[in-house]
Amino acid sequence: MSRFIFITGGVVSSLGKGLSSAALGALLQARGFKVRLRKLDPYLNVDPGTMSPYQHGEVYVTDDGAETDLDLGHYERFTGISARKTDSVTTGKIYSNVIAKERRGDYLGATIQVIPHVTDAIKEWIKADLGDEDFVLCEIGGTVGDIESLPFLEAIRQLGNELGKERAMFVHLTLVPFIPAAGELKTKPTQHSVKELQAVGIQPDLLLCRSDREIPADSRRKIAQFCNVRPSAVIQGLDVDTIYAVPLAYHAEGYDREVCRHFGIEGNEPDLSKWQQIVDRIRAPEGVVNIAVVGKYTSLLDAYKSLAEALRHGGIANNVKVNLNWIDSEIFEREDTVQHLEGVHGILVPGGFGERGSEGKINSARFARERQIPYFGICFGMQMAVIEATRNLVGVKNAGSTEFGPCPEPVVGLMTEWVRGNQLETRKAGGDLGGTMRLGAYEASLKPGSAVAQIYGKTAISERHRHRYEVNINYKEKLEQQGLLFSGMSPDGILPEIVEIPDHPWFIGVQFHPELKSRLFEPHPLFVSFIGAAVTQSRLV
Ligand code: GLN
Repeated sequence: MSRFIFITGGVVSSLGKGLSSAALGALLQARGFKVRLRKLDPYLNVDPGTMSPYQHGEVYVTDDGAETDLDLGHYERFTGISARKTDSVTTGKIYSNVIAKERRGDYLGATIQVIPHVTDAIKEWIKADLGDEDFVLCEIGGTVGDIESLPFLEAIRQLGNELGKERAMFVHLTLVPFIPAAGELKTKPTQHSVKELQAVGIQPDLLLCRSDREIPADSRRKIAQFCNVRPSAVIQGLDVDTIYAVPLAYHAEGYDREVCRHFGIEGNEPDLSKWQQIVDRIRAPEGVVNIAVVGKYTSLLDAYKSLAEALRHGGIANNVKVNLNWIDSEIFEREDTVQHLEGVHGILVPGGFGERGSEGKINSARFARERQIPYFGICFGMQMAVIEATRNLVGVKNAGSTEFGPCPEPVVGLMTEWVRGNQLETRKAGGDLGGTMRLGAYEASLKPGSAVAQIYGKTAISERHRHRYEVNINYKEKLEQQGLLFSGMSPDGILPEIVEIPDHPWFIGVQFHPELKSRLFEPHPLFVSFIGAAVTQSRLV
């Protein structure tokens, strides 16, 4: 029977709750346990798919096509376990389900209330779709004290009661700030945050205290006394130089030991040698490559979380540090400014939406193609590279995307039909925006002998998608004559999945998001290869 660990956050947001949940998952895994990580988000959107990346950061897509919170990306990267639709829920989703049930008459005339109907629906979600997991880690989004998280806190309080101490544990993440004027670390915010939790009936069993410096033993004792937890269960979470050192650092502080102690299952120490090896590698790179990421949401790096990590994984595999230059593509709308890309070792145009900045991306793709600089186009970045090639290699000056409005030469157009498994999916222009893109894992067939077939080492792949537009196959022949090879297609041969330029050091555009599948211990082959090409480029310039 699974044990549940509920992780809440207090004091302020952005303390790294997702990362610390992922790290605990990895530590329990290293002790030989089977884990599952879930995220419960209190906002009213049904999923984050319709939210601006500026507000919410990246939308992480699972194999089964759910648009989820970016923390699921941390979970996958740290544990290697593919998340599922059932691992992410929001207030919006819970309420839509409850209201749909009410409309169907499933509640048999009852008055529908937050308690018990909404809280029951949350509890059902937490316990649904589980197998033989030893631990289920449930992270509650937001900060304790927010109005909208109350039903979630009430639901986990009830579950804690129902399951008992031997099957449920409450972990609370707080901040212990240093106040320069006093020259002291302050425990009061932690005390208040725990009071807030206790007010809704939850007594935390472990406090993970984030701090930028060592928390003295007497401060920890004070926190333990005031907050009603064992002193050894006040764990300090100090800032570390790389996120991949977090499991090691938390283990050194006794985090996983305390968790196991709570459940009465002390025993084997975890084997963290592979973590140590990889962190040693990260800390001693043999070189540096500079990659320009030409995108739109460059002021909020959370918008490209998985991308940054996948590039880092590629760097680790090549023993180099990857410097990322985040550049707003609008800068490159004027053709001469694109010269600023001179000297970078690789150019990456990531996924994106909308017309703003698209000409800058097109100019960047041209610069990379003409100057023989490694180019990696992801989703929108592939579409822009294809538009560029159609304009400048095939000579169709009006080539564009219908995403930006009516277009005389729609090289990229709205997708209205595609096949998922044996089923035909259809979409209408003007339909709902939420959850209606081509989402999740789809297979692609690679052309034998192509660069991508070599990189993957196989010709059948499965990658995660999130797009509404597609490269128009009608331009395939002309583009191929000019040297842009369609080296990956959907198995039915209808949707272009990958383009490449064989006569270029490294020029690949993919319609999917490979960054979503790159993991610390299984770096994605495209990123490993791209960074490898950047290393070669760095020796030339
Ligand atoms: N806006 C493009 C589309 O919907 C690309 C999406 C993306 O880059 N994820 O097809």
